[in-house]
Amino acid sequence: MEKMALIVQKYGGTSVANLERIKEVARRAAKTFDRGNDIVVVLSAMAGETDRFIELANRISHSVNKRELDVLLATGEQSTVALLAMTLESIGYPSASLLGHQVKIHTDSFFGSARIADIDSDNIKKLLGQKKIVIIAGFQGCDQHQNITTLGRGGSDTSAVAVAAAIKADKCEIYTDVEGVFTADPNICSKARKLKEISYEEMLEMASIGAKVLQTRSVEFAKKYNVALHVRSSFNDKEGTVVLEENLITEKMVVAGITSSKNEALITFKKVPDTPGIAAKIFKPIAEANIIVDMIVQNSLKDQQTDISFTVPISDFKKAFELSEKVVKKIASQEVVGDKNIARVSVTGVGMKSHSGIASTMFSALAQENINIIIVSTSEIRISCLIEAKYAELAVRTLHTAFNLDNDKSNVSLYYGGKKTAPKITAKS
Ligand code: ASP
Ligand code: MG
Repeated sequence: MEKMALIVQKYGGTSVANLERIKEVARRAAKTFDRGNDIVVVLSAMAGETDRFIELANRISHSVNKRELDVLLATGEQSTVALLAMTLESIGYPSASLLGHQVKIHTDSFFGSARIADIDSDNIKKLLGQKKIVIIAGFQGCDQHQNITTLGRGGSDTSAVAVAAAIKADKCEIYTDVEGVFTADPNICSKARKLKEISYEEMLEMASIGAKVLQTRSVEFAKKYNVALHVRSSFNDKEGTVVLEENLITEKMVVAGITSSKNEALITFKKVPDTPGIAAKIFKPIAEANIIVDMIVQNSLKDQQTDISFTVPISDFKKAFELSEKVVKKIASQEVVGDKNIARVSVTGVGMKSHSGIASTMFSALAQENINIIIVSTSEIRISCLIEAKYAELAVRTLHTAFNLDNDKSNVSLYYGGKKTAPKITAKS
């Protein structure tokens, strides 16, 4: 017999998309309960519901009252928790649903992107003590004035992690419509494989640059409170991917995954005078408009002139470009040009901390395919290259092979526990 445990299970939108799927969730929760575990279920709204509400609100006005919008959005999760409680009841399992303010999930007052301040675990514990399956509405909380708040899109992941941390759960399982975290997007790279484990750090880097499995904030939370997350599918019983602390990882890989994203655009100031203060003049208005600049590169040309390029989220491109056009004359730059046809491909892995040669492997692999690199940026555990958008998929597949991530685990240099050599790229015949 397994040891009894306190388990949090979170189910995303596709896992509760209709009554059939909710019955599946009930069955899985009941099975976990039957094994003698205490169980808390955290739910999303039915797939598409949140979008539908936003759409409705937009039809009234594009600047609806944010407090009221949160009241509306929170109803998506209010529906699913009630439906699951009824379903569990109908198959003979006592349960109780709780909304954010009933648990007492306290947040700040930033409607639409509130942050959890603390969670009162008394109500949850009381209900668990009565041998009930506790069902909590994800994505919502309440501020100190009892206003309903929501946590930002995908926020029920964060609800689940925060609840798990608050009640000191033994396990936090995130059920979704994919089987786990892959070495690359399987839709792009057919040789991608499921990772057994990945560190918080790697997951954070990958989540913020294209791997859409978990809300970034939920991973930050998990890391902070040391909650191991098991990301797995609600459509089968296969083991998924465990997200955990780096030193607990058993299969240590130099590179954990290759990601790509087309969410950025490039702005380049040409022939800028190479004198102090120019960069500040370019970036100040952009910062004031709250636009996040990511990659920045400055190339010194001859004659005291330089080109300055940087990337912004594609959604902010129009605004950033307009602001840049205003600056161009003021700083005596020749011109400013924009490019939305770019993609970022990234190689992520904690093994980079102790290995050299990752960048050169990456550059050689891209060169072999004649893919030009526009900008490079790095963090301690990631290297990103900006390339032409049309090469994004090819680049992912090429790098996946170059770093020996394809299906089989034939190459031991994949692991950084043993010999410290970077994977070599295999010459093409
Ligand atoms: N229902 C919310 C959304 O669609 C929260 C979530 O699913 O995690 O963003
Ligand atoms: Mg979701």
